[in-house]
Amino acid sequence: MKSKIEEKREFFVSEILRWYEKNGEFYPWRTEKDPFKILLSEILLRKTDRKKVAVVYPKISEYFGSPIKIVNTDIEKLEEFLKPLGLYKERARQLKQGAEFILNKFDGRIPENLNDLLKIPGVGKYTANAVLCFAYKKNVPLIDANLIRILKRFFNLTPNKSRERDDPIFWKFINDTIPTDNIKEFYYGILDFSNQICRPKNPKCAECPLITFCSYYKMHRKFRD
Ligand code: SF4
Repeated sequence: MKSKIEEKREFFVSEILRWYEKNGEFYPWRTEKDPFKILLSEILLRKTDRKKVAVVYPKISEYFGSPIKIVNTDIEKLEEFLKPLGLYKERARQLKQGAEFILNKFDGRIPENLNDLLKIPGVGKYTANAVLCFAYKKNVPLIDANLIRILKRFFNLTPNKSRERDDPIFWKFINDTIPTDNIKEFYYGILDFSNQICRPKNPKCAECPLITFCSYYKMHRKFRD
């Protein structure tokens, strides 16, 4: 027999997937299969509005869709393409260094394991896991502020550390919760759901499919739209 928490986890995953199927947003990198372009999109998305990235991504991925193309391009040219996104000098430098490393150490291919991905300059744990998940469909935890907020609210999780995203509680919890199938759709669902429904301020509980079992809602019934 399943425990209450197992049932709640299953409900959570299936409702996020169902919600995403109906309400998911379209972005060009979400249908991308090329691991390098997925890595490129993750670098562009850092600290940047997805809608802004969506405008420039098609052109950037066409011009710079492989490590060799970036290596063979002047940094000034790269900066010019990246300018509309801001942080363009930093991003251009990271892309240059990353592309050179991938070409020299991995023969131009994007590794399929965390340790090698983390060796690439400019690639941290979140980006590495995003590549493993979105390019290679690996069941890895992809923890960001959105996921933490939803887990805290829905499951009433209480982090122990001041830096929540390093808290082993979340890593263990999300490891036990992520689905074995549809991993991409689950994380894209979390991103869109956190943007449209379980927003940082004024969550739209009245429109939320998780409301029946949401701990936060039970504790704060005054939040209604
Ligand atoms: Fe977030 Fe409200 Fe839904 Fe709970 S019921 S998950 S707080 S939007």
